[in-house]
Amino acid sequence: YRAKHHGLGVSLYDRRTDTHSADKLLLLAELTEALDEGQLVLHFQPEKELRTGRIMGVEALVRWRHPKRGFLAPGEFVPLVEASELIHPFTRAVLAMAMQACRRLRREGFACPMALNLSARNLVDDRCVQDIERQLRAHELSGPDIVVELTETAIMHDTTQVAELLDRLDRQGVGLALDDFGTGFSSLANLKRLPLDFLKIDGSFVRDMTTDEQDAIIVRSTITLAHNLGKKVIAEGVENAAAERLLREMGCDIVQGYHLARPMPLDELIEWMHLHEAMRLSPEPLLLSS
Ligand code: C2E
Ligand code: MG
Ligand code: MG
Ligand code: MG
Repeated sequence: YRAKHHGLGVSLYDRRTDTHSADKLLLLAELTEALDEGQLVLHFQPEKELRTGRIMGVEALVRWRHPKRGFLAPGEFVPLVEASELIHPFTRAVLAMAMQACRRLRREGFACPMALNLSARNLVDDRCVQDIERQLRAHELSGPDIVVELTETAIMHDTTQVAELLDRLDRQGVGLALDDFGTGFSSLANLKRLPLDFLKIDGSFVRDMTTDEQDAIIVRSTITLAHNLGKKVIAEGVENAAAERLLREMGCDIVQGYHLARPMPLDELIEWMHLHEAMRLSPEPLLLSS
C-alpha cells in the first residue's frame, strides 16, 4: 500500500500542468500519514522582555519534515489543514508537542510560557478548548504555562461563542495574544471586549519602521492603544538592532525576531537559553546581548 501511495505521489507531483490544486490535494492526503508517522515537528523562537532582557516566552512554530520535499514551512500546508477536518488532529498533535517541550524547558530551569498558534477553525467549536484543558492536565501543566495566539480572522467570526471560549481559557490563567495585529479586519471593540493579554504587532509594520515614517507611526500608536487598554505589546519580525532600539524608545514590552534568534529545534533552543541567561547575568557589559 505504501509503495503504491508513494508512486501516485511522485507522478502527480512531477506533473507540470495544473500542479497547483492536484498538488494541494496530494499534500492534504499525505498529511494524515504525516500525523501518524510523526513528520510534524516544532521549532521554537524566544521572546525577550526589553526592560530586563529576560526571555518571557517561547513561540512554537510547526514545520513538516516531508519525506520527499524536505522541510515545509507552515505557509505551505497550514492553510490546507485549516480548510479541512484534519485541523482537529493536527492541533492536538501540535498541542502535545508544545506541552512536552514546555515540560522539558521547565526541567532545564526555564519556566517561561509556551505560545501556540491556533487557527480560526479551532474556535468554532469547544473541542479545542477541551483538548487544551485535557493536555494541560496530562502534562501536569497549568493555564499560565501557555499562551494562545489567535489572529484577527479567528476572533471576528461568531463573536459570542469566541468570547465564551476565550473567557473559559482566561479563567484558567491561559495567556491570550492577538497575532499579526493590524493586518486583519477585526473590530477595535474586540480589544475591549475580549480578555486579551498581548497584542503582537505584525512584522510587516516592524520590518521597515526605522525608515518608513508611516510604519513607525502605526507601531507607536498601537503601543499607546494597547497600553491604555492594559495590554502588553510584542513586536514580531524585529530583524536588527536599530528596530529594537526604536521599539525600546517607544515603550514596547517584548521583542521577537531574527535579531534575537531564529526559530530553532528544542535542543538548540535550550542551549541558546542557557547562553542568553549567562550573558544577561554577566557583570561584563561587553558581553550583554543588547
Ligand atoms: P506567526 O504566528 O505570525 O509567526 C511569525 C512568523 O514570522 C514565523 O513564520 C516566524 O518564523 C517568522 N519570523 C520570526 N522572526 C522573523 C523575522 O525577524 N523576520 C521575518 N521575516 N520573519 C520572522 P513561520 O514559522 O513560517 O510561520 C508562519 C505562520 O504560520 C505563523 O505566523 C502562524 O500564523 C502559522 N503557524 C505556525 N505554526 C502554527 C501552528 O502550529 N498552528 C497554526 N494553526 N498555525 C501555525
Ligand atoms: Mg504567532
Ligand atoms: Mg504573528
Ligand atoms: Mg505575522
